[in-house]
Amino acid sequence: MNNQQVINTIIETVQQDPPLALHEPRFRGNEWAFVKECIDTSWVSSVGAYVDRFEEMLTDYTGVHRAAATVNGTAALHTCLVLSGVQRDDEVLIPALTFVATANAVAYCGAIPHFVDASEQTLGVDPEGLRLYLQDIVETTSAGCRNRLTGRRIAALVVMHTFGHPTDLDPLVALCEEYGIALIEDAAESLGSRYKGKHTGSIARLAALSFNGNKVITTGGGGAILSTDPELAKAAKHITTTAKAPHPWRFIHNQVGYNYRMPNINAALGCAQLETLSQFLKEKKDLARRYKKAFAAIPGVQFFSEPDFAESNYWLNTLLVDTEVDLDPFFALARDHKIQCRPAWELMPDLPMYARAPSMPLDCARSLVRRIISIPSSAGL
Ligand SMILES: *Cc1c(COP(=O)(O)O)cnc(C)c1O
Repeated sequence: MNNQQVINTIIETVQQDPPLALHEPRFRGNEWAFVKECIDTSWVSSVGAYVDRFEEMLTDYTGVHRAAATVNGTAALHTCLVLSGVQRDDEVLIPALTFVATANAVAYCGAIPHFVDASEQTLGVDPEGLRLYLQDIVETTSAGCRNRLTGRRIAALVVMHTFGHPTDLDPLVALCEEYGIALIEDAAESLGSRYKGKHTGSIARLAALSFNGNKVITTGGGGAILSTDPELAKAAKHITTTAKAPHPWRFIHNQVGYNYRMPNINAALGCAQLETLSQFLKEKKDLARRYKKAFAAIPGVQFFSEPDFAESNYWLNTLLVDTEVDLDPFFALARDHKIQCRPAWELMPDLPMYARAPSMPLDCARSLVRRIISIPSSAGL
């Protein structure tokens, strides 16, 4: 791979002069009007109509039973794990290749992340590799699925749709059913992405979205829990709103709840952003198409495209270098040109707090982290 050639190809493709951020928010619709209305009416905080409206819009868009808006995506993930019955000293299977929030949410439950390898085809969990691994290390008891090596229960599998590209879910749904493991989708990066026609986050019973400033749409900070199950959806809303029982004046809380509800002012921003989501997606797919064409001519790198079963939102456009090389000189050159490019995250077991957590062999994930380059991906480039 020729570093300068890659930089030139990015500049020629985006049709905008540097500096180029990796992913910037865009505000072109009713954002200002809706936020102003919150301030004018003083409904800025934990009560207000925009939260309900944002949740309804998300529910309609994703096709789930109900969405519950939260303060951020990490809180949404934490809630999904709690509602899936994850308890202290359980193990939760999660990708080694993910943002740290996936592992942290497991740790918040007092549970232990157990790392799973990636697939070169999807950048998500490798279903066949995981099947073979579980055959090897798991025993099924009356209390559920147990790790024979640690003696701990394996309570859940969290999949993550990396950079917006859908994971191959069908074989993972089957695997979780076979072993009695709860399935959760970390769909923080994949609003607008579909797996076999279904919205990501609507296949598992529980899923988390994020509306952080760098995601496809933003609420400043925010997230949502998606659920296809009416009971879980109700519980999600309840425990993210301090588990308060409805009463006109008394404060009755019937379990330990969380103050995870999204404030109205953030939801106002979210409503306006959702109104423009389809336009963002159109522009992002157009940029991905142009990148794909431009990089087809560049030796040593491939532009990552979704497999046939998926439709990606192309949240972060990604190059895959053919061979493992030291990418630091490339990232330094990109910075000199004021083009923000990023490697993949450090693998979770390489972070100090997760270094001793159990893990399957991570051959593919270890190769991918040395070959992934995320390139500028904002809508409208
Ligand atoms: C952004 C993100 C989150 C968490 O979202 P926050 O809103 O920042 O808390 C979780 N998982 C993944 C994979 C993410 O990219």
